[in-house]
Order: sequence, then C-alpha cells, then structure tokens
Amino acid sequence: MRILIVEDHPVLGDALHASLRQGGFSADWVQDGVAAELALQNEEFSAMVLDLGLPRRSGLEVLTALRQRGGRLPVLILTARDNVEDRIKGLDAGADDYLVKPFDMGELAARLRALLRRSAGAADPCLRVGDLLIDPVARCVSLAGEDVSLSAHEFNLLHLLALNAGRVLSRPQLEQQMYAWGEEVGSNTIEVFIHHLRRKIGAERIRTVRGVGYMLPRESA
Ligand code: CA
Repeated sequence: MRILIVEDHPVLGDALHASLRQGGFSADWVQDGVAAELALQNEEFSAMVLDLGLPRRSGLEVLTALRQRGGRLPVLILTARDNVEDRIKGLDAGADDYLVKPFDMGELAARLRALLRRSAGAADPCLRVGDLLIDPVARCVSLAGEDVSLSAHEFNLLHLLALNAGRVLSRPQLEQQMYAWGEEVGSNTIEVFIHHLRRKIGAERIRTVRGVGYMLPRESA
C-alpha cells in the first residue's frame, strides 16, 4: 500500500516516512501543497496523510481540489491541537479521518489500515477472498486454514489484489502502488512476484487478463 505523506515539518515528516515504511507501507514524502498536487496527478496512491498547514498551497486547498476532480483517495488529515475549526473544515472538505498532533505512530498506521479497509468496502479487519484469508495487521495469510509464508513484497501484492478483488489491476498500477520513488522496479518484477504467489496459493487464484493486468476473482475457490 503506497501512502503519500504531505508534511512540511522536517522531523515529523521524516519520522512519518520511516515509521510507515517500517509498518509495511510503501511511502512517499513531499513537503508542500504544490508538490502534493503534482504527486497526486502523476502517481497512484492508496491513501494520503495530509498536514493542513503547508507552504505554497494549504492542505485544505489540496484536499478540496482533489475532491473536485472526483478523486476518492482516502485522506487522513493532521491538525494542530486546539484547532477544532481546521478539523471541521477538513472533514467537510472530504477528509476521511484526522489525527491531532502530537500523535502515536502506531495509531496512525492502524487508522490508515482502517481507511484502506473501508475504501475496499470491508468492515472486517481481515480480508477474505474465497478461502484465502489476509490479515493486514499481523501481515499473514492463510489458505483454507493453512498458513502461507510470503515475502514482504508478495504479501503487499496479494493484499493489493485482495483489496481490489474482482477488478483488474494493470502492471503499472500495481507497480505504482507497491513502490515508492527511488525504489528500483525491475522490468518484470511484478510478473516474478505473481509467479511466486501462484506457486504458493495456487495458479488458478490469480487471473491474467491478457493485455490488461491481473485480478483476484471474488469467488476464488
Ligand atoms: Ca505544517
């Protein structure tokens, strides 16, 4: 899951970036509102953590423009303590959740997982696709009750396919959501991970849609 972090405070931004990556997210960090808009227009993200007080363009302006373009990306805003008005404005402008600074990094990660789950239309923290069970908190997978051992990238890829079960994801979409800027993406890395996943969970569970991409059928059995 690739998260866009928009935070101009260097220490907090750096801490957010490090802690989300440690929590198994892929994360990109920009430090002003204009850079955030550029990133949103050019890249695919699973969610955004957005500070409201930003140079060049405010978080509120970034959020309003995103929603006006019809962008449905889940957004968690960061606001200063005692700024209830900002929080209300942010939620009314289309934010899905908020945290008041200072906050706990573990809570931020948990709230992001909840947002991603809700945006996939699921209330249950575990994702079920047929007899596949994916637990994004423990980062483990089981198949018909048997644990499946996956590498971090394999897990991320399967999680992404499961969040979009029944929908075809193209290779560029998968790459963009799995990798942050600066991370090397080999030309056939996604194919390699798909190959490994198929070997571990059964080839028929991940469908190749020729010329389009990959899909985890909803009723994979
Ligand atoms: Ca700020």
